[in-house]
Amino acid sequence: MKPLLDRGVLVELDELADGSIGRPSRPLDVSPTVGTFVGIKLTGDHLFAVVTDVRANPIRNLDVELSQTDPSAVTRRIADVIADLEPTNLRGVGISLGGLARKGDVLEAPFLGWRDVHLAQPLAERLAVPVVLENDLVALAEAERWFGLGRGLPGFAVITIGAGVGYALVINGEVVRSPDAGVGTGGHIPLDPLGPYCVEGHKGCSQAMLTIGAIAAQASAALQRTVSFDDALKLAEEGEPAARAIVEAAGDALGRLIALTANLTLQSSVVLAGDGIAVYRLVADRVAQRIASERSSRAQTVSIHVDSSGFRAWARGAAAVAIQDAVGRLTAEH
Ligand SMILES: [Zn+2]
Repeated sequence: MKPLLDRGVLVELDELADGSIGRPSRPLDVSPTVGTFVGIKLTGDHLFAVVTDVRANPIRNLDVELSQTDPSAVTRRIADVIADLEPTNLRGVGISLGGLARKGDVLEAPFLGWRDVHLAQPLAERLAVPVVLENDLVALAEAERWFGLGRGLPGFAVITIGAGVGYALVINGEVVRSPDAGVGTGGHIPLDPLGPYCVEGHKGCSQAMLTIGAIAAQASAALQRTVSFDDALKLAEEGEPAARAIVEAAGDALGRLIALTANLTLQSSVVLAGDGIAVYRLVADRVAQRIASERSSRAQTVSIHVDSSGFRAWARGAAAVAIQDAVGRLTAEH
């Protein structure tokens, strides 16, 4: 689908919002009836929801814990949360999750333990509005491209650190939506030949080096007590040697991952996000050094943009996908 900006739809809506409506023509006719949208990001234990206007501006947020993750319980929870948000003139719902989504069905969502779940259509029937389902990295990239840190950049990669390592790509102003987007191709890239093993048996892959669980596990093993991810970062910041070494190794690995990304995609901007991205702040210098050492001196300096807004940006990305879908349908009708 072509971005809204290319079609001029949003430009026209911007003019409307500014009160400078001069020409009652074409796509902007849709604007008064467009209403609101809900974006939902599902994780293995939380549901992050946002109501937005047609320009994806947040109106209200709601974050709830998911105590049950079977599909019918989650579907009910989504419907309840949307009711609680009281969206005015709801026009569409976007749902994003970590995993493979195709045409409204979840083929696989490891964090929820789902396989072949029919999600969008039953929910659309229940809510009586269109429901779109999208991989969460694709939706986040859409959010960054449209109104986030990637706004105005012709191309950039999105790398997320959290329960896993996620990857998405924007080229020539468009989010790449190939069948491989959402497979999790960034999850197990080899980064450190001396690193620990991941659950799949790779030595020093991105999961083993960078994820919240991996850093907590390494710190716990080194200090012989249970150390959370936040505690590991705090100890590293205080100079505790073992925690510091783990975090520095993560910094080197992240630098290599960013250098690889920039080298192979020919894009020199990266947006970092995810609930484990706090690690970057501690090792930004190491990351920059590693990137420089693994790139041609003639290549552009990689610009790094850190999105610390948490899962709300992801929920907003899901709303953006719903808006695109709705405006796409409306403009197709005209
Ligand atoms: Zn691995």
